[in-house]
Amino acid sequence: MTIDSPPAARHNATMQRFANKTVVVTGGGRGIGQEIARALAAEGAKVAVVSRSAASCGKAAEEINAEYPGSATAYAVDVADHAAVQDLAKRIGEDLGTVNILVNNAGVTRDGLLMRMKEEDWDTVLDTNLKGAFNTVKAFMRVLMKAEDPRIINIASVIGLIGNAGQTNYSASKAGLIGFTKAVARELAGRAVTCNAVAPGFITTDMTADLPQAVREAVLQKIPLSDFGNTADIAALVVFLASPAARYITGQVIAVDGGMTM
Ligand code: NDP
Repeated sequence: MTIDSPPAARHNATMQRFANKTVVVTGGGRGIGQEIARALAAEGAKVAVVSRSAASCGKAAEEINAEYPGSATAYAVDVADHAAVQDLAKRIGEDLGTVNILVNNAGVTRDGLLMRMKEEDWDTVLDTNLKGAFNTVKAFMRVLMKAEDPRIINIASVIGLIGNAGQTNYSASKAGLIGFTKAVARELAGRAVTCNAVAPGFITTDMTADLPQAVREAVLQKIPLSDFGNTADIAALVVFLASPAARYITGQVIAVDGGMTM
């Protein structure tokens, strides 16, 4: 391709930054994770779409393959289950070969004031949002250390930075994930594996769909850009962090929140 190539050819070349790259996206069955998987597939990546239910990741992979044939494979795995994640790494190795990029996006909420929070609500949120990332990084780190342009991208939350009443479990899990990100970045820097966190603000997905109108309006008041985010806003940053252009960025937490936490 030269500068004289037709615009379409130039566009195609720049849009295939992830040809020969394999990506694992946890929580890829819906929402932000599905959009991250789709955006990376759009640029040529092979994507392992991981979620709890086979129906969810199966449907997401089917939708991505309809747009980008042969790019997505579904894996139904609970990221909180250490042994199951070890097995997942083995299966992905057999099916797809190496892994260059790991996106830890699987997350849940079990909101409630601390006074009334049940132990199981604490455990479920910490086990999924924080231990889930420990499990996947442990399972994939050896492969990543040998891969080309290796990346770990953790989807945290602005709530991990500023806290929120009614979300002690979620805030602790996301603040923990930010600390984990920085420590992993330091441990793996010698092997050129970068590890960064993205901290979304309020993004329109199933996770935020059920919030009462009054809460939505109160949140909107705190967003300087006066709008909620969408899944593509998060995927755009993840795609950049996953790309070779971001090779010198590690240990960072980048908020995508319409200015909420500036
Ligand atoms: P959704 O609830 O829309 O989707 C969550 C995805 O995670 C689903 O695919 C779900 O699987 C998967 N998942 C949940 N638990 C597990 C588990 N134990 N093992 C494997 N997969 C699991 O969430 P969002 O897209 O809104 O959020 C994605 C990430 O972004 C989360 O980490 C969330 O905390 C974070 N975030 C979201 C914000 C928002 O405003 N939406 C704001 C800040 C951060 P299944 O489909 O099978 O149920």
